Amino acid sequence: MNLILQKLNTLKDELKVYNAKLIAVSKTYPTASIESALEAGQVDFGENKVQEMVQKYEALPKNIRWHMIGHLQSNKVKYIASFVHLIHAVDSEKLLKEINKEALKNDRVIDCLLQVHIAQEETKFGFSAQEIQDLIASATFKSLQHIRIVGLMGMATNTTNQDQISSEFKVLKSIFVFLKNEYLLSNIEMKELSMGMSNDYLLACQEGSTMVRIGSAIFGSRN
Ligand SMILES: *Cc1c(COP(=O)(O)O)cnc(C)c1O
Repeated sequence: MNLILQKLNTLKDELKVYNAKLIAVSKTYPTASIESALEAGQVDFGENKVQEMVQKYEALPKNIRWHMIGHLQSNKVKYIASFVHLIHAVDSEKLLKEINKEALKNDRVIDCLLQVHIAQEETKFGFSAQEIQDLIASATFKSLQHIRIVGLMGMATNTTNQDQISSEFKVLKSIFVFLKNEYLLSNIEMKELSMGMSNDYLLACQEGSTMVRIGSAIFGSRN
């Protein structure tokens, strides 16, 4: 368990230079691992499955900020709407409307990131830059006052080609800057760029990430 503390401290030192926030991705790891990280001062944790997040939320201290980083199905938003801190992977208008509805029921505003498809792989979810512009320009979007878009999230291609990874992160950063300058709406505040995982977080930081989502580099490899 001391190993978690060591790895966290090393990471935090590395990230300090870039001013990037660390989201400790705790999916598949036991609550004991999260408690160790919590003792080391880590309060932001990421999960990619609703049921697992709810179970951990119920079992662990309430000062933890829970980040939903995985693909989220609309019919499951209701289970996390009361407590989720940030939803990273919003990839459809349908999902956004559902988050807005459940946020209203809970009398709160839920912060969200729009996921952008930047990787070459077909399998990764997310909007294109044009789709985001169409979404934001719609009347529906303006009516969603219980969500707030605070930035973008993206995943680079799973490759060892560093140049390719960097150029994909560059694309995401440029879309972020464009949207930040172009759209001044009450439910948008472009400030977070969630990019970078265990394998590519340094490249992501170099390209302007403000939030890295790191699991295995802290908690060890998953089965
Ligand atoms: C699992 C996961 C991560 C963390 O992956 P590691 O390689 O363990 O750092 C980051 N982002 C998303 C969306 C994930 O599903």
